[in-house]
Amino acid sequence: AKLEARGAFRFFEPEMDARIQARRLVEQDLRAALAAEAFELHYQPIYDLASDRICGFEALLRWNHPTRGRVSPAEFIPVAEEIGLIVPLGEWVLRRACDEASRWPDGIKVAVNVSAVQFTSASLVTAVRDALRNSGLPGRRLELEITESVLVANPGATTAILHSLKGLGVRVSMDDFGTGYSSLSYLRSFPFDKIKIDQSFVRDLGGPNGTDFIVRAVIGLGDSLGMTTTAEGVETEAQLATLRAEGCDEVQGYLFSRPVPVEDVPAVIRRWNGA
Ligand code: C2E
Ligand code: CA
Ligand code: CA
Ligand code: CA
Repeated sequence: AKLEARGAFRFFEPEMDARIQARRLVEQDLRAALAAEAFELHYQPIYDLASDRICGFEALLRWNHPTRGRVSPAEFIPVAEEIGLIVPLGEWVLRRACDEASRWPDGIKVAVNVSAVQFTSASLVTAVRDALRNSGLPGRRLELEITESVLVANPGATTAILHSLKGLGVRVSMDDFGTGYSSLSYLRSFPFDKIKIDQSFVRDLGGPNGTDFIVRAVIGLGDSLGMTTTAEGVETEAQLATLRAEGCDEVQGYLFSRPVPVEDVPAVIRRWNGA
């Protein structure tokens, strides 16, 4: 038993080392990237099923690394949160998204992801107000997406912040709904405008382990709470048909478009909404 344990330890150690080293590299590079403007935003359309038109775009952060190419936000956002870079990075995203969206047609909104750390930071409401003022984007055209972890970490502060944001006319969405810890009834205590149904539930629609009943329940919950429901990760016509039949309000996914660079936004709007 002793030998086995030692073997396991030896196997484990270099792997840990490599992980820590990789993280250290990301850390250093992230700090440099913010200064070097190595980030950009790509935009994925959100499609409104009642009007059959694109009603907005979600801004998704992209990092063009000098040697590694494009690094996924799933990899660097957690590091940015840990090293305290998420607040300046998140504020850069807010400014850039509001600037770029201010040039889009008036009916088109922009949705910005806000990390839990940034959401409860002292500067969020000021940063949002400044981004709106400097870009000229009306508050009603900005949506902020936050995840359930915010509610769990600090429910009291969350409610106060949500109300301040509403004062600016901004809408707030609960992102990745169903993947976190909060219960269905918990959602009722917070003034969200929208629920985004996580793509893991959309993926298995109609499948053998069908999640249809979950999707139906969330859409029903949204209706009874007066919240819009948006399904993420829609890739097939069959998923779209089910979501339409269940009364989902909005859909988003590769079926419509992958996230595109800002210069392609007008073409995506033309393609779906006409000239
Ligand atoms: P998210 O907010 O849930 O964003 C949706 C993710 O699903 C995006 O991945 C998008 O490219 C991907 N996606 C869209 N349609 C489909 C589809 O039909 N099928 C599949 N399989 N995937 C689809 P992405 O861009 O890699 O972003 C990953 C996550 O990183 C985001 O998840 C969000 O949590 C985070 N993130 C991205 N940008 C930002 C940001 O500016 N700030 C913060 N705090 N987080 C961000
Ligand atoms: Ca999101
Ligand atoms: Ca999501
Ligand atoms: Ca609805």
